[in-house]
Amino acid sequence: LFVSFEGIDGSGKSTQARLLAEALRASGREVVLTREPGGSPGAEEIRRLVLTGDRARWSPETEILLFTAARRDHLERTIRPALQRGAVVITDRFADSTRLYQGTTRGDLRALVDRLHALMIGVEPDLTVVIDMDPARALARSLHRLGSRPGPATTSAVALQEVLEAMRSPAEESLDPDATTPEADSTGAVVAPPEDRFETFGLPFQERIRQGFLDLAREVPSRIVVIDGDRPEREVAADVAKVALTRLGQ
Ligand code: ATP
Ligand code: C5P
Repeated sequence: LFVSFEGIDGSGKSTQARLLAEALRASGREVVLTREPGGSPGAEEIRRLVLTGDRARWSPETEILLFTAARRDHLERTIRPALQRGAVVITDRFADSTRLYQGTTRGDLRALVDRLHALMIGVEPDLTVVIDMDPARALARSLHRLGSRPGPATTSAVALQEVLEAMRSPAEESLDPDATTPEADSTGAVVAPPEDRFETFGLPFQERIRQGFLDLAREVPSRIVVIDGDRPEREVAADVAKVALTRLGQ
């Protein structure tokens, strides 16, 4: 069984992927828990390339190629071998993220994403769980997390300030990631943006991605199940387990 978790930043994908892995392991199954971008040594290297530094240095098409290259390596080295020996594979994000983030936010490139997927990846999860969540409430979770982060008070205060900045809705034109100008530090080096698009692009961006996942679920209802993520972890996990066990034929 091949399961992917999808959803906006902070919706609880990693938490639910981990809880499902724990539940299936407890019932004696081998589970490989993995993530994208990344999930194999080579793909993790590409992750560093695509998620840090000045993202605008890649054209939208090059970005698609990089994410697809990472996915191909993840598939060859991690996913396919695990499925072949009968393990359950659970991945935190897969191709649907690319259909939305790379396929819709820097121009209408969904057709290119789909063509490359057909050519180079060719597999879809048996089940995709979209953890659906209001972006503002997901952000509030991050706030809570940063507020309780251990370490010097100033570190938490700075982190908190960053999140508060992100809560200010950017102007519509600044929704285009290409429109963001990388900041240079005093040495002139480009400051790497944080690995979180809340902080980079704000709530309206997340709202568009959320809607994109809901649209995808309507497009492919046989594969994609939407689960309300705005509930206690264990309640969400119980629904996820129910759906996964049905797919496992139990
Ligand atoms: P990202 O895409 O940004 O990595 P994510 O979708 O994987 O995020 P998590 O890392 O699982 O989300 O969760 C984000 C934060 O919200 C974490 O601090 C986590 O402990 C907390 N969290 C997860 N699920 C819930 C829940 N159901 N209720 C409250 N808090 C939650
Ligand atoms: O899921 P995770 O938090 O690891 O993702 C890191 C960042 O990369 C997030 O901000 C996410 O929105 C972004 N991302 C992306 N394109 C993808 C997958 C993730 O821009 N295909």
